Amino acid sequence: MPARRGPRGVLTPALRSAGFAAAYLVALLLGRATAGDASHLSLVYPAAGVAAVWFLAQRRQPTAVLDHVLLVGLTLAVNLHDGLPVATSVGVSLARVAQVHVFGRLLRRWWPSGWGQARALPVLALSRDVWPLVGASVVSGLAAAVFSFTGAALGGGAATPLVAVLLVVRASVSVLLLGTLVLRLTPLLLPGDGEARVPLRERLDVPHGTLRQLELALAVVLSAVVCGVVFSVLELPLAFCLFAVTLWIALRFSTTITVLHDFVVSVVVAVVTVAGHGAFAAIESRAEEVLVAQAFVALLSVVGLALSTGRDDRAALAAELRGRALEAEATTRRVQRLADASTEIAAAADPRAALCHAVAGVTGAASAFLMEPDGHGLLVSTGAHGWDRPVRLSMADESITLDVYCSGVPDFVPDAGRDARVAPTVRETVGAASLAWQPVRARGGVTVAVLVVVLADRRTGLDERDAAMLQTLAGEASHLIERADLLARLEVAAERDPLTGLPNRRRWDATASGEIARAQRHGTPLTFAMIDLDHFKHYNDAHGHLAGDDLLTEFARRVGLVLREMDTVARWGGEEFALALPGCTASDAAELARRIQAVVPAGQTCTIGVAQWEPGLTSDDVVARADGALYRGKRGGRDLVAVHGRALPGVIPSPSGAAGL
Ligand code: GH3
Ligand code: MG
Ligand code: MG
Repeated sequence: MPARRGPRGVLTPALRSAGFAAAYLVALLLGRATAGDASHLSLVYPAAGVAAVWFLAQRRQPTAVLDHVLLVGLTLAVNLHDGLPVATSVGVSLARVAQVHVFGRLLRRWWPSGWGQARALPVLALSRDVWPLVGASVVSGLAAAVFSFTGAALGGGAATPLVAVLLVVRASVSVLLLGTLVLRLTPLLLPGDGEARVPLRERLDVPHGTLRQLELALAVVLSAVVCGVVFSVLELPLAFCLFAVTLWIALRFSTTITVLHDFVVSVVVAVVTVAGHGAFAAIESRAEEVLVAQAFVALLSVVGLALSTGRDDRAALAAELRGRALEAEATTRRVQRLADASTEIAAAADPRAALCHAVAGVTGAASAFLMEPDGHGLLVSTGAHGWDRPVRLSMADESITLDVYCSGVPDFVPDAGRDARVAPTVRETVGAASLAWQPVRARGGVTVAVLVVVLADRRTGLDERDAAMLQTLAGEASHLIERADLLARLEVAAERDPLTGLPNRRRWDATASGEIARAQRHGTPLTFAMIDLDHFKHYNDAHGHLAGDDLLTEFARRVGLVLREMDTVARWGGEEFALALPGCTASDAAELARRIQAVVPAGQTCTIGVAQWEPGLTSDDVVARADGALYRGKRGGRDLVAVHGRALPGVIPSPSGAAGL
């Protein structure tokens, strides 16, 4: 890993090693200062912890030759300078090398999640991180003790079991205490990206709320009082009292605070004990006393750490559970919204508009519209919600809508106002909003439409769940749209005569009633007429039924040409047709009837009965009157126009001669 470079300072590897050398030297001297008796044995050994932490932080450096040289050289130099035999000094130096390597190897194996962290110093966060650290500290302490002990023995020093135990404990405790402290305070010591901006208070996990802060202050004061009384005033074996304070802090406050507290207590206990005072002062041998003190602080710190990280674990679990519960609630709400939206679309007369409305509802979009090909080279909006102008895009021009329609793949544009791919008309309308496109696929998977969703708030992408809901709604809607279109076609078919394409009797009934209501409202005239082809049976007999069909079709077409837009012609049945002529009196209608007679194809003729609507008459009444007149016309010789209420002299003979088919 290259040296850390950046605004926080550029440190070359050499400078970094110089920093290590300084820290290590201070720790060595501190340790040597505790060499209390003739054995020259340091009673505490902070240098072991400094070296272990440093080499852990350097675990990704390609070579650490310089650091090894410094480690061995400084250890040798300080020990030799202190008058220790060469063999002892070499043993202590090798012990340090052994310890940093065993510690590193074990952490790598037992704590892969910490070892693998990108930052130089891994963070000690959960209770499961504590045990690898404890284990690696103890085993590496054992490894170091083997070298120190051998060195001491070869150097002619005391090689008693007590010395052996002290060597193990002092090396282990040093690494454990310093390791715990540094790895827990990593975010403070070496803040990662973004962490430096987090206020120190939060990085230290100082509790919020006056009461909690008061409680913390109380715990710290009590800890100080207990330390003072037990280690300075009384000097009785009451050190266990400190466990009570540690339990309080560990169970109530963060791991960072617990670790800091335990470290300060450990330093106080070590200093006081090395000075020959405190709760362990009654123990006669200084080495034994310091051994007990170190075992005490080690236990204190492990218990504190285990409890507080266990508490953190539970808090993290509770937070996760709360998060999951909120997520589940949100999912339930979404499913409910989706179900409501589906029902809304299924029940709607116009599923297109309902789809757009539902989509806007579930995604929180400002508007949504549905684009479909119109069969003439355009993609047009066929349904919309929150969108008042029609959108028309040529399929000859490039557009995201067209891309999505062709590819069937959804698309998203975070800033529609700046994305050149968005059609200018759409861009101007939606401004800086985000846009999402969702293909609507029919049963066979073919894209039949594209849903365009306009999100007023800028988003970087559609939320995964929103995208899933959009897809579900689009999928469901496609079937409903298909069904609605089919129904609409059936409805149209149900009201049309298949042969001539004219409205059939059913449609006629609705139209006739509507026209009567209108005439009544506006007081305008309205006339109905019934047309019956003369001797059509003969025509069929003479030319065949198919020719008869053609004649009917052509006649229907020609009548349509004669009529005004507001008029209605319907196929009443067989060779009979009904006319509704709004705004026409009977005389106007008779005139029109004559023009219709003139367009009967193939030299055929027809008879037409005319009746004007009068207030109070239903459409059936008027039809019956027109039919009556028609009947009279037939009896009068056919090829006539007969007007209801007028005697046969009122019958107007038609101009003969008609256009061919
Ligand atoms: P009239 O002058 O008295 O009306 O004589 P008509 O022969 O026209 O009247 P009639 O009611 O006796 O016969 C109607 C004929 O119209 C009988 C039927 O074959 C024919 N017709 C009815 N519907 C159709 C049709 O859809 N296609 C064809 N080709 N003929 C039809
Ligand atoms: Mg007839
Ligand atoms: Mg007839």
